[in-house]
Amino acid sequence: MTNENNPFESAQELIRSAAHKLNIENSLLEQLLEPMRILEVNIPVRMNDGTTQVFKGFRSQHNDARGPMKGGIRFHPGVTRDEVVALSMWMTMKCATVNIPLGGAKGGIIVNPKELTEGAIERLSRGYIRGIYKYLGPTQDVPAPDVYTTPQIMAWMLDEYEVLVGGKEPGMITGKPLEVGGAAGRASATAQGGFYCIEKLIEKMKLNRMDTTVAIQGFGNAGSIMAKLLHDAGYRVIAVSDSKGGVFRSQGIDPTRALDVKAQSAHLACYEEGKVCDISKIKQTKEYKPISNDEILELEVDILVPAALENVITGKNAKKIKAKAIVELANGPTTPDADKELAKKGIIVVPDILANAGGVTVSYFEQVQNAYNYYWEEEETFQKLKKIMDESFATVWETKEKEQVDMRTAAYMVAIKRVSDAMRLRGRAKRFVQD
Ligand code: GLU
Repeated sequence: MTNENNPFESAQELIRSAAHKLNIENSLLEQLLEPMRILEVNIPVRMNDGTTQVFKGFRSQHNDARGPMKGGIRFHPGVTRDEVVALSMWMTMKCATVNIPLGGAKGGIIVNPKELTEGAIERLSRGYIRGIYKYLGPTQDVPAPDVYTTPQIMAWMLDEYEVLVGGKEPGMITGKPLEVGGAAGRASATAQGGFYCIEKLIEKMKLNRMDTTVAIQGFGNAGSIMAKLLHDAGYRVIAVSDSKGGVFRSQGIDPTRALDVKAQSAHLACYEEGKVCDISKIKQTKEYKPISNDEILELEVDILVPAALENVITGKNAKKIKAKAIVELANGPTTPDADKELAKKGIIVVPDILANAGGVTVSYFEQVQNAYNYYWEEEETFQKLKKIMDESFATVWETKEKEQVDMRTAAYMVAIKRVSDAMRLRGRAKRFVQD
């Protein structure tokens, strides 16, 4: 019996079931169920009041059969070792689903960055790199942003790494500011990739943009940009929320206002302080209504986009989901128990390892540009991203039809086939004959 809220057990269950369908050798499956290496560091940080606080950080390096390992670093009070390991497993699967030549890794520090000064965040970021830099590098393992980490944090990490190794290595980390080797389009890439998936999905569902209603849970980098892209393309985004709560408007919300208009607007008073909504502050009007994070998941919409953290759609609330489709911009928002329930109800789930792969794909483009020291226009980046996302969506959809499975299982089958082929070629499988 697995604990559905433990992302590591969820990741193992997903890999195990797709690997069995593919008849993968046990010796390979065993390697896919655990990370190759996990680093744990305790980072002393001088705080602004003169005291020293110690923070715990992890880096899980799951699999490098297809190339250097890749994955973000998360700063969050809820980070656990198991969560970081699960996220690293999902990175291996994600890079393989979109067929980019990278493996999977993930990092995390147990910290609430909102409680730290900028200086303390910089010292923490540099300390983390000092702890693990020997295992990082453009040909080994390449970090990037994730929940609550920013391009500025990537710049500090790059700088610390370059001091330690004594040379310029811009490709050791991605999601950097443009000034220090970042790629045009990286900041909006996760949402952009998810948007291309939604465009393909509505074709399959025979919907048109104007009639398609969307609810977005999570208004960080991915969720807020997704809201804007959808709104600009003519979709009706009827609800958005962040960790404090959300807002609903049946005619549709203009997310540009949600982002730009802060306390000034009477209707959107809830956008104060860059938050989508603090329920207690909402000025209710006939049009705009407060909505909780639980309610937003249960709205009757065509497409629900979870864009925050893991485990929001579980065995407990899956029965109440009324969306026709779910597009996972977050990593791991749906538990395996919920998946079973959603499948029974005929709800299509475009899985995280496909729907949010735009971010890591443009990170890969960033590495390529760093290696050449030659940079592309944003337009070129998005053209290349669209091609990869459209082809990956088509491959996963065809596999789902052919194998008569849901889209998540199909994506895992595509990914595990690619990863295990590379592992076998490298001689990591058990041989049947003695040599
Ligand atoms: N954190 C992002 C993800 O989960 C991006 C990772 C990357 O760019 O390496 O996919």
